[in-house]
Amino acid sequence: MRALIIHGKRDLRIGEIATRPVGPGEVCVRILRGGICGSDLHYYQHGGIGEMIRIREPVILGHEVAGEVTETGPNTDGIKVGDLVAVSPSRPCGQCAYCHEGLPNHCLNMRFYGSAMPMPHIQGAFRQELVVDVGQCVRATGLTAGEAAMTEPLAVCLHGARQAGDMVGKRVLITGSGPIGVLTAQVARFAGAVEIVVTDLQDKPLDFALAAGADRTINALAEPDVLMGYQQCKGYFDVHFECSGAQRALADGIKATRPRGTVVQMGMGGDVTLPLQQVTVKELSLKGSFRFHPEFATAVELMQKQLIDVIPLLTHTYPFTEHEEAFAVAADKDQSMKVQLDFA
Ligand code: ZN
Repeated sequence: MRALIIHGKRDLRIGEIATRPVGPGEVCVRILRGGICGSDLHYYQHGGIGEMIRIREPVILGHEVAGEVTETGPNTDGIKVGDLVAVSPSRPCGQCAYCHEGLPNHCLNMRFYGSAMPMPHIQGAFRQELVVDVGQCVRATGLTAGEAAMTEPLAVCLHGARQAGDMVGKRVLITGSGPIGVLTAQVARFAGAVEIVVTDLQDKPLDFALAAGADRTINALAEPDVLMGYQQCKGYFDVHFECSGAQRALADGIKATRPRGTVVQMGMGGDVTLPLQQVTVKELSLKGSFRFHPEFATAVELMQKQLIDVIPLLTHTYPFTEHEEAFAVAADKDQSMKVQLDFA
């Protein structure tokens, strides 16, 4: 079968890889759709993420996938041949101290698809077929394959919302209007937020946030004064979801968050300088949010019940053989929101 393998910066190739037999507790999934994530783009554009995570050997990209079950092994009750499934890329070991503590996203031996974090790298899911543990599959009956492949980013946002805690009646700032920012806006609204303001440096992504139900959008480049208005009187927002990874966005958001508010850092960034005194004197909670685990199944159910709508975000689909154009369009935020590859 064929897979999309990155060999280094801007060196993405289709390669032939071996199939493997389905074992007990495993199913084979014919991949139908795979979404290009910010991390896939980082690997492609920069050969890594930040300074710490670098591509040191060829690795198959991709972790936002869905497909059709073509074969089931023994002990795979609940999943049948023909089922459309969202495949969780999260594969904690179940044995380490953090897994035992109920913190599988912090697993010491995590094998998250398409990651150059550990060595050897963890091969990803941008391939025509994938043999997975049955526990990674969530039946996505009623969804399209494109929607089902949005389960992963939606799960990330649900996990982020969990870090923020009770959202009922809260005023929420979201910096970064990519797929994670826009989905976080939907999740925050669903969780009871009364006011949602989304910022970005480009207008086009903000159109998606507005369409997804944000009360107000701000182009932080064109109208920096608007955000400064929210920084008066010790800040305005109860919760800030930082979804860009940019230093400026986090610093501005900290200043715009009111005393006892919560800042959730979801975007991946490097080392930055922050107005730390604001965190101290306003007694802010500065939290991180990384990946997800139980939220994956929740994400499928929320889409199935039409409580979260990801379809407007699916702007482009390309056959995986046209990966060059797909990655170029995914990198252009004036053109695309979520670009998916078709492996069928
Ligand atoms: Zn573990």
